[in-house]
Amino acid sequence: MSQAERTAAGLDPDDWAGLRAQGHRMLDDMFDNLEGLRDRPLWQAPTDAQRARYRAEPPRAPGRLEDAHAQFMADIAPYGSGNRHPGFMGWVQGGGTAVGMLAEMLAGGLDANLGGRDHMPIEVERQVVSWMAELFGFGPQASGIFLTGTSLANLCAVMIARDRALGVEVRAIGVRDPGVAAYASRAVHACIVRAMDMTGLGTDRLRLIDTDADGRIVPAALEAAIAADRAAGLKPFLIVGSAGTVDIGAIDDLDALADIAAREGATFHVDGALGALGVLSPDVAPKLKGIERADSLALDFHKLGQAPYDAGLLLVRDAAAHKRTFSYGDAPYLRHSARGLAGGEWWPCDFGPDLSRGFRALKVWFTLKTYGLDALGAVIGRACDLAQALAARVEASEELELLAPVGLNIVCFAYRGADNAAIAADLQEAGRVAPSTTTLAGRTALRAAIVNHRTQMEDIDALVEGVLALGRAQTRRS
Ligand SMILES: *Cc1c(COP(=O)(O)O)cnc(C)c1O
Repeated sequence: MSQAERTAAGLDPDDWAGLRAQGHRMLDDMFDNLEGLRDRPLWQAPTDAQRARYRAEPPRAPGRLEDAHAQFMADIAPYGSGNRHPGFMGWVQGGGTAVGMLAEMLAGGLDANLGGRDHMPIEVERQVVSWMAELFGFGPQASGIFLTGTSLANLCAVMIARDRALGVEVRAIGVRDPGVAAYASRAVHACIVRAMDMTGLGTDRLRLIDTDADGRIVPAALEAAIAADRAAGLKPFLIVGSAGTVDIGAIDDLDALADIAAREGATFHVDGALGALGVLSPDVAPKLKGIERADSLALDFHKLGQAPYDAGLLLVRDAAAHKRTFSYGDAPYLRHSARGLAGGEWWPCDFGPDLSRGFRALKVWFTLKTYGLDALGAVIGRACDLAQALAARVEASEELELLAPVGLNIVCFAYRGADNAAIAADLQEAGRVAPSTTTLAGRTALRAAIVNHRTQMEDIDALVEGVLALGRAQTRRS
């Protein structure tokens, strides 16, 4: 049978033996690729000819799987986004694991739709949610759901808080004059601002409160802002704490925020994208005290949790409130039944914006089962230790300047008198280590976020040596 005839007969293969053999080769190639990460450049730009191959006409005729794979190995795999590499420190991105990859393959093979119905993959998602509810002290009644990432988890949390404040009728009548305000520190992630926009509450109703020298929200400034709003007739409905700000990794005083939220009758949400899983590390956990008092918590397994992209989680203390915001109501084609495949009392589509959803929970379940929570905590503790070691190297150098205190796993620094954005770009193009940049108090900072479990002291050394060499070359030239 020719390939074309095979395709005409349907997409499933008739050649299981051939597919299996090719599948083994693909897996082997990917293991080789993962094992050799350190020996290859972290990032490189594809050639124009390579890019041009991805602006092609849609393929009408069937092709061979091995050819598509060969093209993947030649054009795609070597030109990835670099976050798996031990020298990657840019932005805040995890590096994944081989176990996570294997779990993704199994999830793809199972092709489960986790929108709802009665099947074991849903039990796996509930299992991970209940592990996390226990870990964060939310209790057995809490609910939760996997989402793409914290951007979406934060949006969902703002929706739940909105409905709690304005009444669930807002789902029908829309937001008119909300009469409410939300509060977060100046350093809060931009996705909280966008959530105010996307929920119809308006970004003007988000108060960005001053931070102290460590980048943490100033509780007295928060209280003053609330008092001013109350005097103007606005009710505080939401206080967002950051468990690790994206810029410098600052952890707000979550206990103080919980107190204020309780006093004001506002929802207390924690953006824990970056730092929440720090509760697994005995060194970091004390800094997160108060996280167990949140009404809702967003976190990312694809950052310090080391799961492959994408895997965000929303935890909600009040499961009924969670469901009130997202329930599909009584769409006849989504009716639950008492038995059969349409059974099961917990349908994720009633707890988030998606109907069809993949099996994100499986890679997290495999990661937690395989490595265990303690090992994950040790990886997070080590990332913070490496950040401290980098900060110490920066402070020991006259040429370098530390631009922010290091509270977690992020180090912001600069080569004095140099164009630090150019240093970052030069380092990225050289492909050995990759910091990103940010702006702190009007100055461009090199930003090194230690997230990847593969990063070692030798990578910190390579970063420092690279920055010194480039900074010296620049300042000598100018
Ligand atoms: C990464 C990050 C986000 C956004 O999360 P995504 O998973 O990228 O959507 C939000 N807040 C903080 C503090 C982050 O570090």
